Amino acid sequence: MKTFCGRANPTTGSMEWLEEGEDYDYHQEIARSRYADMLHDKDRNVKYYQGIRAAVSRVKERGEKAIVLDIGTGTGLLSMMAASAGADFCYAIEVFKPMANAAVKIVEKNGFSDKIKVINKHSTEVTVGPDGDMQCRANILVTELFDTELIGEGALPTYEHAHKYLVQEGCEAVPHRATVYAQVVESRRMWSWKKLFPVHVEAEDGEKILVPPSEMENCPGVSSVCDIQLNQMPSSDFNTLSDVVTMFSVDFSKPVESASTYYRVQLEAVKSGKAQIVFSWWDIDMDPSGMINCTMAPYWVKPTSALQWRDHWMQCVYFLPCEEPVLQGEKWYLTACRDEYSVWYNLQRAREGENKADEEEHAADVCVESPVCRCCAHVLWNRPRFGELNDQTRTLQYIKSLRKVLKTDSVCLCISDGSLLPVLAHYLGAKQVQYFVLFFRTLHFNLFFKANHLEDKIKIIEARPELLKPSHLEDKKISVLVGEPFFTTSLLPWHNLYFWYARTAVSSHLASNVTVLPQSASLHMMIVEFQDLWRIRSPCGTCEGFDVQTMDDMIKDSLNFRESKEAEPHPLWEYPCKSLSDPREVLAFDFTKPVPQHCLSTEGSVKLSRKGKSHGAVLWMEYHLAADISVSTGLMQLSNGK
Ligand code: SAH
Repeated sequence: MKTFCGRANPTTGSMEWLEEGEDYDYHQEIARSRYADMLHDKDRNVKYYQGIRAAVSRVKERGEKAIVLDIGTGTGLLSMMAASAGADFCYAIEVFKPMANAAVKIVEKNGFSDKIKVINKHSTEVTVGPDGDMQCRANILVTELFDTELIGEGALPTYEHAHKYLVQEGCEAVPHRATVYAQVVESRRMWSWKKLFPVHVEAEDGEKILVPPSEMENCPGVSSVCDIQLNQMPSSDFNTLSDVVTMFSVDFSKPVESASTYYRVQLEAVKSGKAQIVFSWWDIDMDPSGMINCTMAPYWVKPTSALQWRDHWMQCVYFLPCEEPVLQGEKWYLTACRDEYSVWYNLQRAREGENKADEEEHAADVCVESPVCRCCAHVLWNRPRFGELNDQTRTLQYIKSLRKVLKTDSVCLCISDGSLLPVLAHYLGAKQVQYFVLFFRTLHFNLFFKANHLEDKIKIIEARPELLKPSHLEDKKISVLVGEPFFTTSLLPWHNLYFWYARTAVSSHLASNVTVLPQSASLHMMIVEFQDLWRIRSPCGTCEGFDVQTMDDMIKDSLNFRESKEAEPHPLWEYPCKSLSDPREVLAFDFTKPVPQHCLSTEGSVKLSRKGKSHGAVLWMEYHLAADISVSTGLMQLSNGK
């Protein structure tokens, strides 16, 4: 079946209608999935195999047949491990049809078709009985349903159901148990991903401070997990204020409850500082003894020799609802609240001489509501965007260039999503300057103007650029057009070229001597060798002795499909690489002129100046705000040997 799907092109802003086959979603899913990364995760695979062997042995020692239930079999890997370890029969459940089909092929190729039955269902649909999917309940439960937050992929409700309907009481589970750890830290760098810091502007009539609205100050933010490669965060960028504490454990061999709950731990501040962030990670014990442990602990908690690079499981950064000043030696309660799929944290001061009853009462005060953004900013700006807005060096470049281009009689139009440029421009320019902001997204962002008493100075126009009318601009022509540019729909660097398309659409409203800021942009490129990121795309061949080439072929096929061919967005500070070529400009875009009718393209050769494996090209944009003032969204500086 083919369907027509409408999709807005993030660069041009126009709707494109594309005929999509049934395989579109499938290719997207495979291309974005982390199957290759899991198969390359040696530490995970070896420990699963050890745990599975131990569980099969324990069941056999009891004189029982080993019947395995593998929920979320993917390639069939864990079932094949179980069959090799001597399991009598495996039920391999996989909800995603293309994966289930691949599992059938892989299982057959490896000669396990008589021992493994692949069932293409969600585990909650699986039936047990003589005519059911499973002949009988299993006595070994094997799963790998975890994400960086442990429970984000629905492990808890899946386990809850499996214990009720699919496995025997007292079954062996691999992994046997998961434990979640937390540590309270202060970090200006990471806090800047949640909070907007006041912006200081040196105006002609003295220093002005641009204040975030109180709604934003008190906003709990969003509940989506912030998962990052914490091992790339230098220790100079955070201060640990507590020891590592164990927040909660889940024993997978016993009935699991998925209903919302919370876990509270008392901790003592080991340093004075501002508690802002909770770092969290988990480990899994593959067997009850705890001898086979697979941990996500970051570098300062475990020896570096034990570090396994992986991208499918990282570490979590949770933002406390508000910053709490703590003193060394003070006692605090850290609470982890969770629902079926996500976790969030609270920190409360422990009261002097608190008794059991007080403690209970105290626990009742804990905010068990999942964080929901009330100020719109956390929905409009993602975490890297908050960080960008709090980058004072960057802000200074905008201030300097605005100062250059603004005149006392300027009529200014800003095209960017949720930009602070109009506020900066107001403080920098003379009061006669008129500002208009073109917003045409559904999210309104006038809170900021209100907080700074600028509602009557800055006019918000709700129209798409092509629908802008002279009346919106009070029949004035625009003398200064500004943009950062930033648009919430941008994923890849060049998507922000939408500014150029919008500029073209409003051409008839621009004065003949209009100044456009940025005046131009350029796309830059460098060939690199990644330290680890290559693994997420690299074919695996065999995994722990099992042939998984079918999976490699599927991934390769999906990576060749449509958008996946274009490029992938990655925050490169998390993925170290070394350059094999000098950085160079590959394309330039002149915003002072409309978008040309002809297609822009470039061709050429790159000189590789260093030996290494060229894994890919990294691309980024630089914006040239005004003469001699530029901001880079990529490479900040060149360092020798990197
Ligand atoms: N077991 C494999 C793959 C793990 S990825 C390995 O360890 O390499 C998890 C897989 O579980 C995904 O393919 C996903 O589609 C599937 N899945 C998740 N929850 C499921 C459920 N409740 N029932 C069936 N499949 C599930």
